[in-house]
Amino acid sequence: MDFQNSLAFAKELDANDPLARYRDEFLYPQVNGKDVIYFTGNSLGLQPKRTKKYVDDVMKDWHELAVEGHFYAEKPWWDYHERLATDLAKVVGAKEKEISVMNTLTVNLHLLMVSFYRPEGKRIKILCEEKAFPSDQYMLQSQARFHGLDPNEVLVEVKKRKGEHFWRTEDILDKINEVGEELALVLMGGVNYYNGQVLDMKTITKAGKEVGAFVGWDLAHGVGNIALELHDWDVDFAAWCSYKYMNSGPGNASGIYVHEHYLGKKDIPRFEGWWGTKKETRFLMQPEFDPIETADAWQLSNPPILSIAPYLASLELFDEVGMEALIDKQKRIVAYLEFILGEIDKQVESTFEIITPKDRGCQLSVFLHGEGRSLFDYLMKNGVITDWREPNVIRLAPAPFYCSYTDMYNFGQILKEGILNK
Ligand SMILES: *Cc1c(COP(=O)(O)O)cnc(C)c1O
Repeated sequence: MDFQNSLAFAKELDANDPLARYRDEFLYPQVNGKDVIYFTGNSLGLQPKRTKKYVDDVMKDWHELAVEGHFYAEKPWWDYHERLATDLAKVVGAKEKEISVMNTLTVNLHLLMVSFYRPEGKRIKILCEEKAFPSDQYMLQSQARFHGLDPNEVLVEVKKRKGEHFWRTEDILDKINEVGEELALVLMGGVNYYNGQVLDMKTITKAGKEVGAFVGWDLAHGVGNIALELHDWDVDFAAWCSYKYMNSGPGNASGIYVHEHYLGKKDIPRFEGWWGTKKETRFLMQPEFDPIETADAWQLSNPPILSIAPYLASLELFDEVGMEALIDKQKRIVAYLEFILGEIDKQVESTFEIITPKDRGCQLSVFLHGEGRSLFDYLMKNGVITDWREPNVIRLAPAPFYCSYTDMYNFGQILKEGILNK
């Protein structure tokens, strides 16, 4: 499609956008009396309007039913989390029984590593990307030390090539084959938080498993953003947070996926608690753990209902729209943003370098050569919420649920003013 950098053109795209009406499902911060242009859905998604009712319902049930709410609330609390698994399974391409919702992301990755990182003999190594998200680095280092190993010997980082801003699949595969029999686990971010790159998870998973390693994915930036087929890709495990593209609220509950191959097993190492044992016998308070035949076996505690209620509200929206329609709009809106950046680039002296490769989801990371943090401050003051990373990289993530084509056009104009008026 031939794009135009004009308000009329952007408005026409909005008029033809089947998801345009979902903008009204969300609440926007205001700057100068106007809704902001929100590019940080990759960090904290906006609040869906319907979320409040879900939380209010739980508060009301707690008031009116108290302990009876576990069984007699309209959505009983004792299996409330299972409602989330149904919709999440569609979002990540898994079977319902392969999904659970619990804890938070880093906690869950640690718990999953109890099962899937079992260093033995010379098979001790973990493959990850260089400069992985800091929490993941701390997690991997501390896991190595927990097993009495030296993180420097355990962690194998795949580097980008000199002068390039992205990872090449062939370099990842070469590294997997090079480490070979010493590789215990591949654990990487499926969508990189910094450059927005989507890794070829299917190919990498296959290669990792072929050398006998377990393969897991941190999908913090992947879930609700890109097409995932975790089950068909034969991924062993994955975890994600729900507050980025999933719009479930700050620090909210994490989701996990465990391949059905590992379900219903008593002999897999795992940290266990009463919410992972079979429902039928749970309240008999027996001493022996009998794992539920779903990923809930990894669940330790009874879930915080007030926290997962917003997640359910958000998942309802995902279910209504479907990932296919979201991804369809995402591709268009990101392409339009890329076009706008190109047009503005021609009109100013600084140069924009998009460091996100073509394998991408919602995010464009842009190196603003010749600019500084003051540009970021200008954007914020003028109602454009972005994320700034040293050196001079802004991350722009126009989430298809609540960003419009007009937002992209207006952003271009504000960006141009910010650069020309400095
Ligand atoms: C956002 C993010 C996290 C956050 O972890 P929490 O445990 O939710 O604080 C972890 N890993 C990656 C790759 C992320 O992008």
